[in-house]
Amino acid sequence: MLKIAIIGGGAAGCFAAANIPALPGREVVLFEKTGKLLQKVKVSGGGRCNVTHSYTGLPELLQAYPRGIALLRKTMHRFTPLHTQRWFENEGVVLKEEPDGRMFPTTDTSQTIIDTLLNCMTRNRTQVFLHHALTDMKLLPDNTFELHFSNGVVYHAHKVLIATGGYSKPDQYNIFTGLGHKFSLPVPSLFTFNMPNEAITALPGLSASEAMVKVLGTKLSVTGAVLITHWGMSGPAILKLSAMAARTLAECNYQFQIGVQWSPLTNRGAVFQQLRQEQGKQAASRTTTAQALATSLPKVRHFPRLPFGRPAGCAAKSPSGSSYPRCIYCKRQNHL
Ligand SMILES: Cc1cc2nc3c(=O)[nH]c(=O)nc-3n(C[C@H](O)[C@H](O)[C@H](O)COP(=O)(O)OP(=O)(O)OC[C@H]3O[C@@H](n4cnc5c(N)ncnc54)[C@H](O)[C@@H]3O)c2cc1C
Repeated sequence: MLKIAIIGGGAAGCFAAANIPALPGREVVLFEKTGKLLQKVKVSGGGRCNVTHSYTGLPELLQAYPRGIALLRKTMHRFTPLHTQRWFENEGVVLKEEPDGRMFPTTDTSQTIIDTLLNCMTRNRTQVFLHHALTDMKLLPDNTFELHFSNGVVYHAHKVLIATGGYSKPDQYNIFTGLGHKFSLPVPSLFTFNMPNEAITALPGLSASEAMVKVLGTKLSVTGAVLITHWGMSGPAILKLSAMAARTLAECNYQFQIGVQWSPLTNRGAVFQQLRQEQGKQAASRTTTAQALATSLPKVRHFPRLPFGRPAGCAAKSPSGSSYPRCIYCKRQNHL
């Protein structure tokens, strides 16, 4: 009997089990330390599970994870997003593509994905043992593995697939380093920026849809939506930048400076051109300059709360008496 042990009942472990069909003379056993399978999949994609992406161009996809291009290239060529789509469609899951290319089940619930994986595992007669945390693993002279679990169970396997996800503490990898495996030290990723004492935190709720955020002193930058919060900055562009710069930011102990270009308009001439266009539209539609600008610049209604000094030569006052950083009142070009 060929015994295959899968350690971890998350997306990776269950997808592996779903792809190992039952065969005479083969036993597949999945061990999960908690009391439930696929817990992260349940909350993934805001509960809808972003299954894959509609990208067919692999170079583009690999660029999205700059620290792992070499590692991922081979794997992604063998199992592309198109393979993922076909795999789920073969199992009866209908996927839909959103305008940004993300693909979700049409049911809009991750339970569809969970049910599909569990059904496949049942069909494959995968044996599942919950509340079994692997604590030690030995390679025996006959090239089989002896697996020890926290509840005292010992299991012997010919093949072991480790799908335990990531651990936050380096010593949690000790089970596997004893067998000669090497790990890169884990660092935080996908976090918001904490910016205590920065004036910008006076503007919580202010957002820009196409800001370019750069970690100064590096080549790392991301363009996308940025949200100012009462503690600093958040939003998709910040989260993505934190992932791309994860190791760089850990190395400088999270003491770094960013530069933000709030508008996709890259120079003064372009800003004025947009302003003139918006002024033209404004005259026709009776919208205010502030409303018109909100399409391409952060919402100017928040500017009065910025603790910046008034530009030299500008006598304009907001209704509340505070200074404006930009002269939307006196309209002098050299203020912009
Ligand atoms: C909020 C959120 C939203 C997300 N949204 C998406 C999305 O929409 N689309 C997407 O593709 N990805 C998404 N992700 C990422 C995705 O969920 C993970 O990449 C994926 O779940 C990782 O799967 P995994 O099987 O490698 O690890 P995990 O899901 O972490 O599973 C590992 C399993 O191993 C078990 N385990 C650990 N140690 C042991 C041990 N010693 N013995 C036995 N069992 C053990 C754990 O209990 C766990 O069940 C999201 C993640 C989060 C947190």
